[in-house]
Amino acid sequence: MRERFLRIGIMGGTFDPVHLGHLVTAERARSEFSLEQVLFLPSGISPHKTTKRVSEAEHRYMMTLLATLSNPHFEVSRIDIDRTGISYTIDSLRILKEHYGPNVELFFITGADAIFEIMNWKDSNQYLEIAHFIAASRPGFSLEELPSDTREWVARHQERFHLLRVPAMAISSTDIRERVQQGDSIRYMVPELVDHYIRRHDLYLK
Ligand code: ATP
Ligand code: MG
Repeated sequence: MRERFLRIGIMGGTFDPVHLGHLVTAERARSEFSLEQVLFLPSGISPHKTTKRVSEAEHRYMMTLLATLSNPHFEVSRIDIDRTGISYTIDSLRILKEHYGPNVELFFITGADAIFEIMNWKDSNQYLEIAHFIAASRPGFSLEELPSDTREWVARHQERFHLLRVPAMAISSTDIRERVQQGDSIRYMVPELVDHYIRRHDLYLK
């Protein structure tokens, strides 16, 4: 009998806070690519956000946990937040690959905005050796506008690079943080429990 590979999605992010855009994207990736599980990976100290203020890792972890609790296919990993120093995605993928072993295929899920950055990532060429890449559509970022070098890179790796259309969700964590600070509602932009968590811990007020 042919051995079956287990397919696991990895949804990396700062998740400050996690919102419905993340959840819809992860669920759509799960069903389109027949993933057994999607592992949410809240970042430790992100190389892209070292100068920005980011909420404590424990808060971001807890919110991600609350948001994913009801989906039996969703899990949250602490590997990045428990690691000291800057967490590079490539290192996280290597750790996960090692952890799951040879019978697992990894699918790294990102929004279209991340694809614009991919050429600048550490060891970007090695990504596709470790994992498939799923680039999800995101309002405001058209993959048709990719710079030509990135476009060529994507074309060269077609077999491991996949596009995913998700229902358009013009939601970002930045917008949510601003709304909270201004006293606006974020109801239905984040799961209810995440909204409660933000209020209870006075997040994003200053
Ligand atoms: P911030 O505004 O703080 O950057 P964000 O909303 O972009 O927050 P991140 O934690 O940076 O959220 O994103 C994690 C991953 O989810 C990234 O790959 C990002 O492209 C993707 N993503 C975020 N929001 C959406 C969305 N609305 N639709 C599709 N993908 C999204
Ligand atoms: Mg972002």
